[in-house]
Amino acid sequence: MDHNRVVVLDAVNTFLLREHGLLVDGKMVAAQSGQRSEVRNPATGQVIASVADGNEQDVDAVVQSAHRAFSAGVWSGLRPAERERILLKLADVLEAHAEELAQLETLNQGKSIHISRAIEVGASIEFVRYMAGWATKLGGETMDVSIPVPPGTRYTAYTRRQPVGVVAGIVPWNFPLMIAIWKMVPALAAGCTVVLKPSTETPLTALRLGELALEAGIPPGVVNVLTGRGSRAGQALAGHPLVSKVSFTGSTEIGKTIGHTAIDNMTRFSLELGGKNPMIMLGDVDVDKAIQGALMGGFLNQGQVCAAASRLYIQRSKFNQVVEGLAAAANSMTLGSGMDLNAQVNPLVSARQQQSVCRLIDTARSEGASILAGGGAADLPGYFVKPTIILNAAQHSTIVREEVFGPVLVALPFDHPDEAIAMANDSRYGLAASLWTNDLSAAMNLVPRIEAGTVWVNTHIPLDPSLPFGGFKQSGIGREFGRGAVENFTETKSVCIAH
Ligand code: NAD
Repeated sequence: MDHNRVVVLDAVNTFLLREHGLLVDGKMVAAQSGQRSEVRNPATGQVIASVADGNEQDVDAVVQSAHRAFSAGVWSGLRPAERERILLKLADVLEAHAEELAQLETLNQGKSIHISRAIEVGASIEFVRYMAGWATKLGGETMDVSIPVPPGTRYTAYTRRQPVGVVAGIVPWNFPLMIAIWKMVPALAAGCTVVLKPSTETPLTALRLGELALEAGIPPGVVNVLTGRGSRAGQALAGHPLVSKVSFTGSTEIGKTIGHTAIDNMTRFSLELGGKNPMIMLGDVDVDKAIQGALMGGFLNQGQVCAAASRLYIQRSKFNQVVEGLAAAANSMTLGSGMDLNAQVNPLVSARQQQSVCRLIDTARSEGASILAGGGAADLPGYFVKPTIILNAAQHSTIVREEVFGPVLVALPFDHPDEAIAMANDSRYGLAASLWTNDLSAAMNLVPRIEAGTVWVNTHIPLDPSLPFGGFKQSGIGREFGRGAVENFTETKSVCIAH
């Protein structure tokens, strides 16, 4: 037995072998067309499971299920404290299945088992517990209105928050379980019913999540899971007239399509989209900390993180020291399956993503940049790309402008902080950024000037359920996390009583 490899649980092997359907009305049903799609293990390229490939008729069945459950009030009609209790139970059920979920995610998505355990599952369970509490804490306001007519009439006015209805949660492939939970749980806390639509590449944990929601006591029809292609099932879901809100995380390009589709029905939508996130290191930076931060910020989940650091702007006095340290670290990293406990770099999610990242590295070369470390695919069976550090790229070049979504960092020097801010803001994206300095005044003066929904100082990437997360500019519309995330799944109703 190889002690460096995770032993796959029987529960995981059994789950992979199942004939997965769509979760509708609390039951797994086959797609009406009978079509299926294959699910691969990115570390080997081999098929490990197959799922139903839902079409427009399936979308209708899934949405009708969520709509029936919403209209019947089987969830929204519960007392808030009962919804909170059931969501807390869901957290316990997820905890009881934590290792199974982590293994499924690593086998399907490719990421390190350590990340699956700590983030996909561990952090998500904390998120569920945090959000469960909002079920009992939402409320409206009472207004002392001044309506003058008819004379002598007094009024009492107040607002109440009501669940918006059926929520479509459309999820990307980079953190499949965690982002499914980011969509599903705040919507449930608000009293909505949900249709989850995972990515074609990574549907497995969403299917298991749907089953575990039932096990936790969430009534049938409240959480539904639709597998299928984005261009067909996803598109039909976003345009279904009974969907009241679309919560989408994915690329900016598809986000725009969804926005256009949703607006036809005046469906509410929130979009968490791409990023090209700058990391600005001032000359007083603690070099070792900054290198660790860039490795974590840039290479976590092989850079397949919307908030990943991807553009490093380093003040010239520290430039060589930082990039040499980064190159040495990148060259020494061990590549291997996410199920290998010692592997530091794991495969990308798919052959398509591997090719896309390699193409962008080649474009950087052809546009005159130089490769200090890595520089392309690794000679291994899975979808690996070597951790790559790129220098001498121009600010206007493709590698500095386009989201790579792979283990690629591009480093550029600057002389004055104003120059760094101008280059950092010179992007259509504005999801996240980090600033590295021990100069408190510099930090306080620069933070407001950075165009990003999240700015970290002396760290990059940590998220917390209480802290709003979302993008400026083309990185999205709306915020997840915190009270606002739950309120975004409600409509405000104003009530005015004459007496
Ligand atoms: P994607 O946009 O290709 O797909 C996302 C989801 O949308 C998938 O479930 C897909 O099947 C579905 N989809 C595709 N076409 C659709 C359509 N026409 N209508 C409805 N649904 C459709 O994104 P991806 O490649 O899965 O994920 C990577 C992208 O997600 C990156 O751009 C990344 O930055 C972004 N992302 C953003 C955040 C954030 O919070 N801002 C988090 C993670 C990922």
